[in-house]
Amino acid sequence: MQIWDISVPISPGMPVWPGDPHVELERMVAIARGDSCNLSRLACSAHTGTHVDAPLHFIDDGAPVEQLPLDVLIGPALVVELADAEAITPAHLDALVLPEQTTRLLFKTRNSALWQQPAHAFASDFVALTSDAAAWMVQRGIQLVGIDYLSVQLFQDTDSLTHRLLLEAGVVIVEGLNLYDIEPGSYQLICLPLMLMGSDGAPARAVLMRE
Ligand SMILES: [Zn+2]
Repeated sequence: MQIWDISVPISPGMPVWPGDPHVELERMVAIARGDSCNLSRLACSAHTGTHVDAPLHFIDDGAPVEQLPLDVLIGPALVVELADAEAITPAHLDALVLPEQTTRLLFKTRNSALWQQPAHAFASDFVALTSDAAAWMVQRGIQLVGIDYLSVQLFQDTDSLTHRLLLEAGVVIVEGLNLYDIEPGSYQLICLPLMLMGSDGAPARAVLMRE
């Protein structure tokens, strides 16, 4: 069994969405200062690094993150590579000719190369899904979509339609994946968001496995 970690490292200096708080991770109690143990304090957005969006993120009475179904967060996933895409459109999705049983789809794009420098400045020209592509995914019965940068929707798409179409249909959105080392193909996905009660999202550890 091979296991690939597709999470991004969480540390101060990592890119965050413009306006979101920067990550603070600091040693509050330290053996080096005479304390009996080391103890760190973490402060960050619930949408830090590799994370999951709950329906509540864009729907005010939507489900919070603890209600996301584990049987969607864990299971077979297909990694597809769209190396030349700037925005993922229905034409890209049609051309993929997805196997019938596909319900979890992870997009590897040029975004993944950005994570080669974990502390890079936020890149607003990342690749993401158009709202037409989101509608396509819903129509096709996709239950989980993963993208390799901090949003599933293009930076300039301020109508939030991509997010809303997916979340209203109950599609689980995983953002901030690093698929740089991942060959396109079939894997088992395990993505476990922290159980932050009542939250609109949560950081997650995500791995792919293959026999
Ligand atoms: Zn998010």
